[in-house]
Amino acid sequence: MLDFTRQYAVIREEVLEAIESVCASQKFILGPAVSSFESAAAAACAATAGIGCASGTDALWLAMAGAGVGPGDRVVTTPFSFFATASAILRCGATPVFADIDPATFNLSSAAVEAAIRDSAGAVKAILPVHLYGQCANLDALKGFGASLIEDAAQAFGARWNGTPAGSLGDAAAFSFYPTKNLSAFGDAGLVTTSDPAIDDRCRLLRAHGMRQRYIHEEIGWNSRLDSIQAAVLEVKLRYLPQWNAARRERAAAYDRLFRRTGLADGTVVLPFTDPRAEHVFHQYVVRVPRRDSLRQFLTDRKIGTEIYYPIPLHLQSSLDFLGCKRGDFPVAEQATAEVLALPMYPELREDEQETVVHAIAEFYS
Ligand SMILES: *Cc1c(COP(=O)(O)O)cnc(C)c1O
Repeated sequence: MLDFTRQYAVIREEVLEAIESVCASQKFILGPAVSSFESAAAAACAATAGIGCASGTDALWLAMAGAGVGPGDRVVTTPFSFFATASAILRCGATPVFADIDPATFNLSSAAVEAAIRDSAGAVKAILPVHLYGQCANLDALKGFGASLIEDAAQAFGARWNGTPAGSLGDAAAFSFYPTKNLSAFGDAGLVTTSDPAIDDRCRLLRAHGMRQRYIHEEIGWNSRLDSIQAAVLEVKLRYLPQWNAARRERAAAYDRLFRRTGLADGTVVLPFTDPRAEHVFHQYVVRVPRRDSLRQFLTDRKIGTEIYYPIPLHLQSSLDFLGCKRGDFPVAEQATAEVLALPMYPELREDEQETVVHAIAEFYS
Protein backbone atom coordinates (compact mmCIF):
# COMPACT_ATOMS: atom_id res chain seq x y z
CA MET A 1 0.00 0.00 0.00
CA LEU A 2 2.81 2.39 0.95
CA ASP A 3 6.60 2.15 0.94
CA PHE A 4 8.18 5.07 2.76
CA THR A 5 11.72 3.77 2.42
CA ARG A 6 11.89 4.83 -1.25
CA GLN A 7 11.23 8.47 -0.36
CA TYR A 8 13.54 8.41 2.63
CA ALA A 9 16.42 7.21 0.45
CA VAL A 10 16.06 10.42 -1.62
CA ILE A 11 15.78 12.94 1.22
CA ARG A 12 17.87 11.18 3.90
CA GLU A 13 20.89 13.54 3.84
CA GLU A 14 18.84 16.73 3.89
CA VAL A 15 16.49 15.52 6.59
CA LEU A 16 19.27 14.31 8.87
CA GLU A 17 21.06 17.63 8.44
CA ALA A 18 17.87 19.50 9.38
CA ILE A 19 17.39 17.31 12.47
CA GLU A 20 21.04 17.76 13.41
CA SER A 21 20.69 21.55 13.28
CA VAL A 22 17.73 21.40 15.68
CA CYS A 23 19.75 19.16 18.01
CA ALA A 24 22.66 21.58 17.83
CA SER A 25 20.36 24.49 18.75
CA GLN A 26 18.75 22.49 21.62
CA LYS A 27 15.50 24.37 20.89
CA PHE A 28 12.97 21.57 20.68
CA ILE A 29 9.59 23.23 21.04
CA LEU A 30 8.34 26.04 18.80
CA GLY A 31 11.38 28.29 18.22
CA PRO A 32 13.01 29.28 14.90
CA ALA A 33 12.55 25.93 13.09
CA VAL A 34 8.81 26.09 13.77
CA SER A 35 8.37 29.75 12.72
CA SER A 36 10.37 29.08 9.58
CA PHE A 37 8.17 26.12 8.61
CA GLU A 38 4.99 28.01 9.54
CA SER A 39 5.89 30.85 7.16
CA ALA A 40 6.91 28.53 4.34
CA ALA A 41 3.77 26.39 4.69
CA ALA A 42 1.45 29.42 4.91
CA ALA A 43 3.07 30.91 1.79
CA ALA A 44 2.61 27.61 -0.07
CA CYS A 45 -1.14 27.82 0.74
CA ALA A 46 -1.38 31.54 -0.09
CA ALA A 47 -2.41 32.21 3.53
CA THR A 48 -0.85 34.94 5.66
CA ALA A 49 -0.37 32.80 8.77
CA GLY A 50 0.48 29.24 9.73
CA ILE A 51 0.11 27.98 13.29
CA GLY A 52 1.95 24.71 13.98
CA CYS A 53 0.39 22.30 16.45
CA ALA A 54 0.59 18.73 17.69
CA SER A 55 -1.70 16.93 15.20
CA GLY A 56 -4.33 17.34 12.53
CA THR A 57 -6.98 16.63 15.13
CA ASP A 58 -5.72 19.52 17.26
CA ALA A 59 -5.49 21.71 14.14
CA LEU A 60 -9.21 21.10 13.54
CA TRP A 61 -10.05 22.02 17.11
CA LEU A 62 -7.79 25.12 17.02
CA ALA A 63 -9.11 26.31 13.64
CA MET A 64 -12.72 26.07 14.84
CA ALA A 65 -12.10 27.47 18.32
CA GLY A 66 -9.99 30.23 16.74
CA ALA A 67 -12.93 31.10 14.47
CA GLY A 68 -15.18 31.36 17.52
CA VAL A 69 -16.92 27.95 17.48
CA GLY A 70 -17.86 27.14 21.06
CA PRO A 71 -20.36 25.47 23.37
CA GLY A 72 -23.89 25.36 22.00
CA ASP A 73 -22.84 26.02 18.40
CA ARG A 74 -23.75 23.80 15.45
CA VAL A 75 -21.26 22.84 12.77
CA VAL A 76 -22.33 21.19 9.51
CA THR A 77 -19.97 18.50 8.25
CA THR A 78 -19.75 15.26 6.28
CA PRO A 79 -20.41 11.80 7.73
CA PHE A 80 -17.85 10.34 5.29
CA SER A 81 -14.53 11.24 6.88
CA PHE A 82 -12.06 10.29 9.56
CA PHE A 83 -13.50 10.39 13.09
CA ALA A 84 -11.52 13.51 14.07
CA THR A 85 -13.68 15.64 11.77
CA ALA A 86 -16.62 15.05 14.11
CA SER A 87 -14.75 14.67 17.41
CA ALA A 88 -12.98 18.03 16.98
CA ILE A 89 -16.40 19.71 16.71
CA LEU A 90 -17.42 18.05 19.99
CA ARG A 91 -14.06 19.01 21.52
CA CYS A 92 -15.07 22.66 20.90
CA GLY A 93 -18.26 22.01 22.85
CA ALA A 94 -20.27 22.28 19.63
CA THR A 95 -22.61 19.78 17.94
CA PRO A 96 -21.94 18.15 14.57
CA VAL A 97 -24.83 18.34 12.08
CA PHE A 98 -24.23 15.90 9.25
CA ALA A 99 -25.11 16.50 5.60
CA ASP A 100 -24.77 13.88 2.87
CA ILE A 101 -22.03 13.76 0.25
CA ASP A 102 -21.87 14.08 -3.51
CA PRO A 103 -21.64 10.55 -5.00
CA ALA A 104 -19.04 11.53 -7.65
CA THR A 105 -16.47 13.34 -5.48
CA PHE A 106 -17.36 11.92 -2.02
CA ASN A 107 -17.22 15.53 -0.75
CA LEU A 108 -19.93 17.43 1.10
CA SER A 109 -22.93 18.18 -1.15
CA SER A 110 -23.86 21.87 -1.11
CA ALA A 111 -27.54 20.99 -1.69
CA ALA A 112 -27.43 18.71 1.36
CA VAL A 113 -25.73 21.46 3.38
CA GLU A 114 -28.43 23.91 2.38
CA ALA A 115 -31.12 21.45 3.50
CA ALA A 116 -29.29 20.73 6.77
CA ILE A 117 -29.08 24.44 7.54
CA ARG A 118 -32.77 24.92 6.68
CA ASP A 119 -33.82 22.00 8.91
CA SER A 120 -31.39 22.71 11.75
CA ALA A 121 -32.95 23.26 15.15
CA GLY A 122 -30.59 26.17 15.77
CA ALA A 123 -28.32 28.57 13.87
CA VAL A 124 -25.31 27.01 12.17
CA LYS A 125 -22.07 28.65 13.23
CA ALA A 126 -19.66 26.96 10.82
CA ILE A 127 -19.36 24.51 7.94
CA LEU A 128 -16.50 22.02 8.00
CA PRO A 129 -15.99 20.46 4.54
CA VAL A 130 -13.30 17.79 4.11
CA HIS A 131 -11.10 17.72 1.00
CA LEU A 132 -11.42 13.96 0.86
CA TYR A 133 -8.68 11.88 -0.78
CA GLY A 134 -6.89 15.11 -1.86
CA GLN A 135 -9.65 16.76 -3.91
CA CYS A 136 -11.00 20.09 -2.66
CA ALA A 137 -14.67 20.32 -1.78
CA ASN A 138 -16.58 23.01 -3.69
CA LEU A 139 -16.06 25.86 -1.24
CA ASP A 140 -17.61 28.43 -3.59
CA ALA A 141 -20.95 26.63 -3.25
CA LEU A 142 -20.69 26.72 0.56
CA LYS A 143 -20.29 30.49 0.77
CA GLY A 144 -23.35 32.62 1.34
CA PHE A 145 -24.88 30.53 4.14
CA GLY A 146 -23.71 33.05 6.74
CA ALA A 147 -21.53 30.43 8.46
CA SER A 148 -17.75 30.38 8.95
CA LEU A 149 -15.96 28.03 6.56
CA ILE A 150 -13.29 25.82 8.09
CA GLU A 151 -11.45 23.41 5.78
CA ASP A 152 -10.46 19.93 6.90
CA ALA A 153 -7.47 19.88 4.55
CA ALA A 154 -5.72 16.97 6.32
CA GLN A 155 -5.46 15.04 3.05
CA ALA A 156 -4.93 17.90 0.66
CA PHE A 157 -1.74 19.94 1.06
CA GLY A 158 -1.06 21.44 -2.38
CA ALA A 159 -4.56 20.81 -3.77
CA ARG A 160 -6.41 23.69 -5.41
CA TRP A 161 -9.96 24.76 -6.23
CA ASN A 162 -10.35 27.16 -9.16
CA GLY A 163 -6.64 27.92 -8.80
CA THR A 164 -6.84 28.78 -5.07
CA PRO A 165 -4.86 26.48 -2.75
CA ALA A 166 -6.44 24.43 0.02
CA GLY A 167 -5.64 26.36 3.18
CA SER A 168 -6.91 29.69 1.88
CA LEU A 169 -10.35 28.71 0.57
CA GLY A 170 -12.19 29.39 3.83
CA ASP A 171 -11.73 31.34 7.06
CA ALA A 172 -9.22 28.83 8.43
CA ALA A 173 -7.94 25.38 7.51
CA ALA A 174 -6.52 22.38 9.34
CA PHE A 175 -3.72 20.19 8.00
CA SER A 176 -2.40 16.90 9.35
CA PHE A 177 1.16 15.73 8.88
CA TYR A 178 0.53 12.21 10.20
CA PRO A 179 3.13 9.95 8.54
CA THR A 180 0.77 8.59 5.85
CA LYS A 181 -0.44 12.03 4.66
CA ASN A 182 0.84 13.50 1.39
CA LEU A 183 2.96 15.97 3.39
CA SER A 184 4.09 14.03 6.42
CA ALA A 185 6.26 14.37 9.49
CA PHE A 186 8.30 11.74 11.35
CA GLY A 187 5.56 11.54 13.96
CA ASP A 188 2.43 13.52 14.77
CA ALA A 189 2.14 17.13 13.66
CA GLY A 190 -0.48 19.57 12.38
CA LEU A 191 -1.00 23.12 11.14
CA VAL A 192 -3.73 25.74 10.99
CA THR A 193 -3.62 28.26 8.15
CA THR A 194 -5.60 31.49 8.05
CA SER A 195 -5.42 35.00 6.64
CA ASP A 196 -7.56 36.42 9.46
CA PRO A 197 -5.32 38.10 12.10
CA ALA A 198 -7.89 37.53 14.87
CA ILE A 199 -8.08 33.77 14.17
CA ASP A 200 -4.28 33.61 13.92
CA ASP A 201 -3.89 35.32 17.30
CA ARG A 202 -6.51 33.14 19.02
CA CYS A 203 -5.01 29.88 17.63
CA ARG A 204 -1.54 30.88 18.87
CA LEU A 205 -2.96 31.62 22.30
CA LEU A 206 -4.97 28.39 22.51
CA ARG A 207 -2.13 26.08 21.43
CA ALA A 208 0.02 27.31 24.33
CA HIS A 209 -2.23 27.38 27.38
CA GLY A 210 -3.83 30.72 26.53
CA MET A 211 -0.59 32.36 27.55
CA ARG A 212 0.86 35.41 25.83
CA GLN A 213 3.10 36.49 28.68
CA ARG A 214 4.68 33.81 30.79
CA TYR A 215 2.28 32.44 33.43
CA ILE A 216 -0.49 34.88 32.56
CA HIS A 217 -3.35 32.78 31.17
CA GLU A 218 -5.88 34.87 29.24
CA GLU A 219 -7.85 31.82 28.18
CA ILE A 220 -8.09 28.15 28.96
CA GLY A 221 -6.05 26.77 26.09
CA TRP A 222 -4.15 23.50 25.82
CA ASN A 223 -0.66 22.21 25.12
CA SER A 224 -0.61 21.62 21.39
CA ARG A 225 2.74 22.93 20.30
CA LEU A 226 4.69 21.70 17.28
CA ASP A 227 8.07 20.06 17.88
CA SER A 228 11.04 21.76 16.20
CA ILE A 229 12.37 18.46 14.85
CA GLN A 230 9.06 17.77 13.10
CA ALA A 231 9.02 21.31 11.69
CA ALA A 232 12.56 20.91 10.36
CA VAL A 233 11.67 17.61 8.66
CA LEU A 234 8.49 19.14 7.23
CA GLU A 235 10.28 22.15 5.81
CA VAL A 236 12.62 19.87 3.85
CA LYS A 237 9.71 17.79 2.57
CA LEU A 238 7.63 20.87 1.69
CA ARG A 239 10.21 21.71 -0.99
CA TYR A 240 9.63 18.33 -2.65
CA LEU A 241 5.86 18.39 -2.33
CA PRO A 242 5.00 19.96 -5.73
CA GLN A 243 6.95 17.22 -7.52
CA TRP A 244 5.51 14.50 -5.26
CA ASN A 245 1.95 15.70 -5.86
CA ALA A 246 2.63 15.79 -9.62
CA ALA A 247 3.93 12.20 -9.39
CA ARG A 248 0.73 11.16 -7.58
CA ARG A 249 -1.33 12.67 -10.41
CA GLU A 250 0.77 10.72 -12.92
CA ARG A 251 0.23 7.49 -10.95
CA ALA A 252 -3.52 8.21 -10.90
CA ALA A 253 -3.54 8.77 -14.68
CA ALA A 254 -1.64 5.49 -15.11
CA TYR A 255 -4.27 3.60 -13.05
CA ASP A 256 -7.03 5.20 -15.16
CA ARG A 257 -5.26 4.09 -18.37
CA LEU A 258 -4.70 0.55 -17.11
CA PHE A 259 -8.32 0.16 -15.95
CA ARG A 260 -9.62 1.41 -19.31
CA ARG A 261 -7.30 -0.90 -21.23
CA THR A 262 -8.55 -3.97 -19.35
CA GLY A 263 -12.18 -2.94 -19.96
CA LEU A 264 -12.77 -2.90 -16.18
CA ALA A 265 -13.74 0.77 -16.32
CA ASP A 266 -16.77 -0.11 -18.47
CA GLY A 267 -19.22 -0.78 -15.69
CA THR A 268 -17.27 -2.86 -13.15
CA VAL A 269 -14.84 -0.46 -11.51
CA VAL A 270 -15.89 3.17 -11.00
CA LEU A 271 -12.75 5.28 -11.37
CA PRO A 272 -12.15 8.42 -9.27
CA PHE A 273 -13.90 11.49 -10.66
CA THR A 274 -11.95 14.75 -10.72
CA ASP A 275 -13.99 17.93 -10.92
CA PRO A 276 -12.56 20.11 -13.73
CA ARG A 277 -12.24 22.98 -11.21
CA ALA A 278 -10.16 20.88 -8.83
CA GLU A 279 -6.44 20.21 -8.86
CA HIS A 280 -6.46 16.81 -7.15
CA VAL A 281 -3.35 15.66 -5.24
CA PHE A 282 -4.45 12.01 -4.98
CA HIS A 283 -3.61 11.51 -1.36
CA GLN A 284 -5.60 8.35 -2.12
CA TYR A 285 -6.67 6.69 -5.36
CA VAL A 286 -10.10 5.32 -4.50
CA VAL A 287 -12.33 3.20 -6.73
CA ARG A 288 -15.86 1.94 -6.20
CA VAL A 289 -16.23 -1.77 -6.79
CA PRO A 290 -18.85 -4.50 -6.49
CA ARG A 291 -18.16 -7.31 -3.96
CA ARG A 292 -15.59 -4.99 -2.36
CA ASP A 293 -14.74 -7.12 0.68
CA SER A 294 -14.14 -10.29 -1.36
CA LEU A 295 -11.97 -8.34 -3.79
CA ARG A 296 -9.97 -6.93 -0.90
CA GLN A 297 -9.39 -10.42 0.53
CA PHE A 298 -8.37 -11.67 -2.92
CA LEU A 299 -5.79 -8.85 -3.20
CA THR A 300 -4.53 -9.39 0.36
CA ASP A 301 -3.93 -13.07 -0.48
CA ARG A 302 -1.74 -11.84 -3.35
CA LYS A 303 0.17 -9.50 -0.99
CA ILE A 304 -1.43 -6.38 -2.50
CA GLY A 305 -2.23 -3.87 0.24
CA THR A 306 -5.48 -1.89 0.04
CA GLU A 307 -7.45 0.13 2.58
CA ILE A 308 -11.03 1.21 3.22
CA TYR A 309 -11.45 4.90 3.96
CA TYR A 310 -13.92 4.69 5.67
CA PRO A 311 -15.86 1.51 6.49
CA ILE A 312 -18.38 3.07 8.92
CA PRO A 313 -19.93 6.50 8.35
CA LEU A 314 -19.54 8.86 11.30
CA HIS A 315 -23.28 9.06 12.02
CA LEU A 316 -23.30 5.27 12.67
CA GLN A 317 -20.31 5.23 15.04
CA SER A 318 -21.61 3.91 18.36
CA SER A 319 -19.79 6.61 20.34
CA LEU A 320 -21.89 9.19 18.45
CA ASP A 321 -25.22 7.43 19.10
CA PHE A 322 -26.23 10.34 21.31
CA LEU A 323 -26.52 12.54 18.21
CA GLY A 324 -29.64 10.52 17.36
CA CYS A 325 -28.79 9.56 13.77
CA LYS A 326 -29.84 6.23 12.25
CA ARG A 327 -29.09 4.04 9.25
CA GLY A 328 -30.68 5.51 6.14
CA ASP A 329 -30.12 9.14 7.20
CA PHE A 330 -27.22 9.68 4.77
CA PRO A 331 -27.66 7.04 2.05
CA VAL A 332 -24.95 8.33 -0.31
CA ALA A 333 -22.30 8.18 2.41
CA GLU A 334 -23.58 4.78 3.58
CA GLN A 335 -23.33 3.36 0.07
CA ALA A 336 -19.80 4.76 -0.30
CA THR A 337 -18.66 2.99 2.89
CA ALA A 338 -19.73 -0.33 1.30
CA GLU A 339 -18.06 0.22 -2.09
CA VAL A 340 -14.85 2.23 -1.77
CA LEU A 341 -11.40 0.71 -1.97
CA ALA A 342 -8.13 2.65 -1.83
CA LEU A 343 -5.37 1.15 -3.98
CA PRO A 344 -1.62 1.52 -3.42
CA MET A 345 -0.73 5.17 -4.06
CA TYR A 346 2.45 7.12 -3.36
CA PRO A 347 4.80 9.16 -5.54
CA GLU A 348 7.44 6.43 -5.85
CA LEU A 349 4.97 3.70 -6.87
CA ARG A 350 6.11 2.08 -10.13
CA GLU A 351 3.99 1.47 -13.21
CA ASP A 352 4.81 -2.26 -13.23
CA GLU A 353 3.46 -2.46 -9.68
CA GLN A 354 0.28 -0.72 -10.78
CA GLU A 355 -0.03 -3.24 -13.62
CA THR A 356 0.18 -6.05 -11.06
CA VAL A 357 -2.62 -4.44 -9.04
CA VAL A 358 -4.91 -3.89 -12.03
CA HIS A 359 -4.26 -7.36 -13.47
CA ALA A 360 -5.12 -8.95 -10.12
CA ILE A 361 -8.38 -6.99 -10.02
CA ALA A 362 -9.13 -8.08 -13.62
CA GLU A 363 -8.48 -11.70 -12.61
CA PHE A 364 -10.94 -11.39 -9.70
CA TYR A 365 -13.75 -10.16 -11.94
CA SER A 366 -12.99 -12.54 -14.87
C1 LIG B 1 -5.74 12.36 9.26
C2 LIG B 1 -6.98 13.12 9.31
C3 LIG B 1 -7.34 13.88 10.44
C4 LIG B 1 -6.59 13.83 11.74
O1 LIG B 1 -5.25 14.13 11.67
P1 LIG B 1 -4.24 13.57 12.81
O2 LIG B 1 -2.96 14.26 12.48
O3 LIG B 1 -4.17 12.09 12.64
O4 LIG B 1 -4.77 13.98 14.12
C5 LIG B 1 -8.49 14.65 10.37
N1 LIG B 1 -9.26 14.66 9.27
C6 LIG B 1 -8.97 13.93 8.19
C7 LIG B 1 -9.86 14.00 7.00
C8 LIG B 1 -7.82 13.13 8.16
O5 LIG B 1 -7.55 12.40 7.08
